Amino acid sequence: MKRPAAKPPRGSGRPGSSAKPARPGRRPPRPSRPRTPPADPAAAQAARQTTAYLKKLFSDVGFSIDARRGQNFLVDLNLLDLLERTAGIEPDDIVLEVGSGTAALTERLSRAAFRVVTAEIDPRLATLARDRLIDCENVELVEGDVLAGKHQLAPAVLAALDAAVAARQAEGRTGRFLLVANLPYCVATPVISNLLLVRPFDAATVTVQREMAERMIATPGSGSYNALSVWVGAQCRGEIVRVLPPSAFWPRPKIDSAIVRLDLEPKRRQAIADLPGFHAFVRDIFCHRRKLLRGVLIRLAGGKQQPAAVERVARLYQTFGFDRSIRAEELAPETFVALQQAFAASE
Ligand code: SAM
Repeated sequence: MKRPAAKPPRGSGRPGSSAKPARPGRRPPRPSRPRTPPADPAAAQAARQTTAYLKKLFSDVGFSIDARRGQNFLVDLNLLDLLERTAGIEPDDIVLEVGSGTAALTERLSRAAFRVVTAEIDPRLATLARDRLIDCENVELVEGDVLAGKHQLAPAVLAALDAAVAARQAEGRTGRFLLVANLPYCVATPVISNLLLVRPFDAATVTVQREMAERMIATPGSGSYNALSVWVGAQCRGEIVRVLPPSAFWPRPKIDSAIVRLDLEPKRRQAIADLPGFHAFVRDIFCHRRKLLRGVLIRLAGGKQQPAAVERVARLYQTFGFDRSIRAEELAPETFVALQQAFAASE
């Protein structure tokens, strides 16, 4: 793991790569990283992160699981493989992981990426992860909450990402920014929402609760369609890659999970003139999703007591050709984008 002292110069490569200076404009060869499982049986078990391994590790250090923090560890090696394969990490990519746990996934990400920023809120797990990542020079572990509030990412995480980008630039490289994580259910929505607001990923490959995965990719009119569907759908293409049974995790959660992949669509994002305004608009509208859209818009415009508000919404309805009975859950993300812009402009 990245340590303040005794850090070898990165030069053109990572530890183990030949230290030739980088040639501007030319990508240095991909450094070889060991991908074969470790020969040592204990290390091999750690890499597989089996239930037996975790039970022993936790009992050795006297760690008891905190369910409120979504501590359900992925114990199916094939699914860890699938998560990594789906992410398609390349050597110049910077990866954010939320929830290092015991660093089983972090270690894999470290082998594949330029740099990994991983956040862990539980100090006991952060210690275990740090021990395991001692040789992973390209990992920055941020100990603490990934969020600084419901609507804000922790400054330390953003600073670590900035440092990773600066280090990559200094080597004359460019790459993507990826979110790859077995996300703790308690922060999955704010993490994805806030990243799309302030620090958009090029792609996200995450395990989340199945219900949340379905919301992220839901289309108008379906029962799952909500503010998150609009916010994500207005910026990304998404697909559920695999539904995961509770047995993929230890301890077993009560419900299914899913691996979901989101790919940012830059053109969709560029079409949103005011991202914070759009984010707030969608949230406000879906606070009253069961109500008629007309009433919700009039409320946002100032209330039905104000004739100007009623008139303003009537004009919008005419422009968009909306039926009076339309509800928010029937509008496609791109219609929401156009509506928010027109609503803001009609003030
Ligand atoms: N990455 C590991 C794995 O795949 O097995 C652990 C994933 S586990 C689902 C979620 C992890 O996120 C736990 O280690 C938990 O302590 C951590 N976590 C929960 N809330 C967090 C937060 N707000 N910020 C950072 N980490 C958090």
